[in-house]
Amino acid sequence: MPVSFLYLSVPSTGRLISNQQEAIRTTALNNVAYRFISVSGQIDTSLGCNLLHTQYNPIPECYHWEVPSQKEREQQRISEILKRLEERFPDAECALTHRSAFELLMATILSAQCTDERVNMVTPVLFARYPGPGELAQADMEELQEIIRSTGFFRNKAKSLRGAAEKIAHHFDGEVPQTMDDLLTLPGVARKTANVVLGTWYGIADGVVVDTHVRRLSQRLGLTRQKEPQKIERDLMKKIPQDEWIALSHRLIHHGRQTCKSQKPRCEECSLAELCPHAQR
Ligand code: SF4
Repeated sequence: MPVSFLYLSVPSTGRLISNQQEAIRTTALNNVAYRFISVSGQIDTSLGCNLLHTQYNPIPECYHWEVPSQKEREQQRISEILKRLEERFPDAECALTHRSAFELLMATILSAQCTDERVNMVTPVLFARYPGPGELAQADMEELQEIIRSTGFFRNKAKSLRGAAEKIAHHFDGEVPQTMDDLLTLPGVARKTANVVLGTWYGIADGVVVDTHVRRLSQRLGLTRQKEPQKIERDLMKKIPQDEWIALSHRLIHHGRQTCKSQKPRCEECSLAELCPHAQR
């Protein structure tokens, strides 16, 4: 059964050009139904059926076309984006090395304005010296700063790490809290960090992690027009089913690192290109 629909515009001549034929071939292979829309916005049934039955495996649904609303088309587009990201990154996970909620929280605080690779070089030393919140709450500030210096903004980060550890040790019985409200009371923790811990460690989808990759890709893919992380997150939470929130951010981050790079997105090799407004420019 087809799982979604791709809408292809047809030139006024009624003849398809080669890249549209290639798109049809690909979608047929992927078991995605497709519909044709003429330049005037009308569904072109004859062309669709003709092509479907003469060149490719017929998809019976092509006999029952209805003109979908803009909203339906957008939902189908988003479903297709989610499906292709899942196919590409079925097991995408957080790249920060951690063995507990506490380690993940500390690593995420350190990852602000810093690469995950750099954080992963620093945290083994940090966690060997301070294995839990009790030890880190007692840390000598200068020594702590020295350990994390290479991650940048080390004075502020050291304050956040020790402050969060103190609060966890004294107010939360040594356990990293499991609710957004409680996490947001910890020094150095905003929604992004809280969402990382809730989603990645506890499996709780309370929101969507919006880091620099998720922000950029959400904008390019037309999932938001907002610029502020909180407003982007709100848009994503409205448009994406909740059970996709955790995986989506991991997958977008991977896709952003490998293909949809900040300076030069590789649209020509991107599996989302035909669904992406940025690639159509
Ligand atoms: S088509 Fe280009 S801009 Fe769109 S997601 Fe892919 S790489 Fe990014």
